[in-house]
Amino acid sequence: MSIQIQRKKTRQVSVGPVKIGGNAPVAVQSMTNTFTHDIPATVKLIHRLEAAGCEIIRVAVPDMPAAEAIRSIKNQIHIPLIADIHFDYRLALAALKAGADGLRINPGNIGSNKKVKAVADQARDYGVPIRVGVNAGSLEKDLRKKYGVTPEAMVQSALRHVELLRSFDFHDIKISIKASDVLTTLEAYRLLSSKTDLPLHVGVTEAGTLYSGTVKSAIGIGMLLYEGIGDTIRVSLTRDPVEEVRVGYEILKALNIRQRGPEIISCPTCGRCQVNLFSIVDQIESALMNKTIPIKIAIMGCVVNGPGEAKEADIGIAGGAGQGILFKKGKVVKKVKEKDLVKVLLEEVEKIEELRN
Ligand code: SF4
Repeated sequence: MSIQIQRKKTRQVSVGPVKIGGNAPVAVQSMTNTFTHDIPATVKLIHRLEAAGCEIIRVAVPDMPAAEAIRSIKNQIHIPLIADIHFDYRLALAALKAGADGLRINPGNIGSNKKVKAVADQARDYGVPIRVGVNAGSLEKDLRKKYGVTPEAMVQSALRHVELLRSFDFHDIKISIKASDVLTTLEAYRLLSSKTDLPLHVGVTEAGTLYSGTVKSAIGIGMLLYEGIGDTIRVSLTRDPVEEVRVGYEILKALNIRQRGPEIISCPTCGRCQVNLFSIVDQIESALMNKTIPIKIAIMGCVVNGPGEAKEADIGIAGGAGQGILFKKGKVVKKVKEKDLVKVLLEEVEKIEELRN
């Protein structure tokens, strides 16, 4: 029996057909980095993200052409789309009209209460949720003055915006309060979670490059999820957004929250390894990149210890001198020529996939 994390039960909202909060699975999001008005490029990227398992996509809406592009983009994609709006409430209204399934706004920079009300009223009419997205870098002056850039200030800012939306009888709300500093992010979400049952979108903002961003996100998002906090996640990386989705799923897989696609376990190699395991792992990983079958695959460096060390894997290979083995649940199935190891393993995965379908 695997250990399961107890998630905090939050109120549920729907972004198009995707449920967030309540008993819904933790949804994986990403954001496009194309110009939104460049419809072909944006659609192409979203299709790649869909193939990687992205469940909700956010696009920046800095101007009217971007807002208007949403209609055409929506017609060509298969996952709900969230419009990310700053400063101009008319962009939010235009994005809603164009079919956005969700809005991300920072009501603090949308302008007067009257403008926020106009957005809330229209979002309610369209049945579209709003994410109140607070960033440590853009806190209101009075809160910065009172608390400094602290978790307390971020939480106060978020709750203030939530209250404003509620005062307009708008309730389909999610919240995020991101900082690029992991410890601030952790404290802020903990505090926020203790004060609200609204669903939370969790992430570490501007997390950085592939290595540093992955580590920061794995710690920040991972610790919160471990504590039961978080209903949807976005990993931020200065990279192809497809990598964000992959890292997101790896975090969820590592915490046993969601399974998507194969889980590869591989040994670090040591002086007993006589094959080029790094290349074998790379080949298998890229061949299985977009598979959705949940299967544990072991790729081990030597026949002596490999199968034993990877007993929990559904299937695996272990290298040897010129010849390796294929094993299932730690038991040797057959010997395989070294040059055929990758091919044989991939064929076996296909067979298991057919059996399970
Ligand atoms: S499986 Fe073999 S090669 Fe890999 S770390 Fe263990 S002993 Fe070394």
